[in-house]
Amino acid sequence: MGKYVLFSEGARGSLSKQLIAKFKLDENCQPPKFGIGIKELWQIEPENHKAGLVQHAFGWPLDNNVGGGAFLYHFEDNIVAVGHVIHLDYKDPYLSPFDEFQRFKTHPAIRKTFKGAKRTSFGARVISEGGWQSVPKLSFAGGALIGCAAGLVNLPRIKGSHNAILSGMLAAEKVAQAIGDGRSSDELVAYNDSWRTSDVGKDLKPVRNVKPLWSRFGTIWGVALGGFDMWTNSLFNLSIFGTLKHKTQDANSLEPAAKHQKINYEKPDNVLSFDRASSVYLSNTNHEEDQPAHLHLNNVALQQSSEFEIFDGPSTRYCPAGVYEWSEIEGKNTYIINAQNCLHCKTCDIKDPNKNINWVTPQGGEGPLYQDM
Ligand code: SF4
Repeated sequence: MGKYVLFSEGARGSLSKQLIAKFKLDENCQPPKFGIGIKELWQIEPENHKAGLVQHAFGWPLDNNVGGGAFLYHFEDNIVAVGHVIHLDYKDPYLSPFDEFQRFKTHPAIRKTFKGAKRTSFGARVISEGGWQSVPKLSFAGGALIGCAAGLVNLPRIKGSHNAILSGMLAAEKVAQAIGDGRSSDELVAYNDSWRTSDVGKDLKPVRNVKPLWSRFGTIWGVALGGFDMWTNSLFNLSIFGTLKHKTQDANSLEPAAKHQKINYEKPDNVLSFDRASSVYLSNTNHEEDQPAHLHLNNVALQQSSEFEIFDGPSTRYCPAGVYEWSEIEGKNTYIINAQNCLHCKTCDIKDPNKNINWVTPQGGEGPLYQDM
């Protein structure tokens, strides 16, 4: 066992989740917020490629009440990364982030990039979106959280790698000081006390109201107000909103299916849009089929009485890998978990309306094996 252990598991880390609960690290912060990001790599025709081009979009196909956006990055060798993020505080249990992403690529301004192109990779992962006000206490006896495990993503920049590096450097500095002083396994109080005045805090504080404004006022007004707030923060170091709160955990935002209409997504054309099975194939996901399942239900009966009967099975739509199915087996409605397809995105651990799904680590090293993602 190390003298100090730094946890850098990424967003919704499963060990970090347990540590936050065990040490009550979140008792003085706002609830964590997340988005699901789905991404593909494409090999496109040279005439459609502009090395270095960066495009960001928000709005269509999402309506004004669903937060999210998209990106296209033109890398070298005619490779384009295209991705779509949906904030997980959406209300409609019929919404499918995977299918919204497939629809996004059909926009006339986007689809021309992919004329004659070939999809080569697919992946999905949640992104921390809570920012400044959702960062838990970062230190505890013998360890600390760093990077996305601590929720240090700058939402409007869609970027967290810089703060992952900076928080790792800051924590390492405090560990070195502690070990130099002959300490071990105690709490790195200096790390927790210093991050808000460090470059990490200076990056996150000015953008702290973008997400709560977006959630409250929708895309049109929320993004405009968020932009205004970032502007006053950058120029005058002040916000007319102070620090806004996040309303609630993402698990609590789904509304009963009876309040919504089913969404009829178009069938994939297998040229520009695809189904889940062929997408998971491109993620090179592998789990041994007879290993202990890594997706646990806390209460099996609750999945039928609530997830299915009240919310009409949203896990069959929010999971980008088609892991969850409701199916009639021997006359009985049955919840099927195809755990071997899991992309480890962690959406189910966050978005189940009863917090009834617990994602735990599968046996060593298995899961998606992304190529160049
Ligand atoms: S089972 Fe959960 S973690 Fe795995 S791909 Fe589906 S939503 Fe993501």
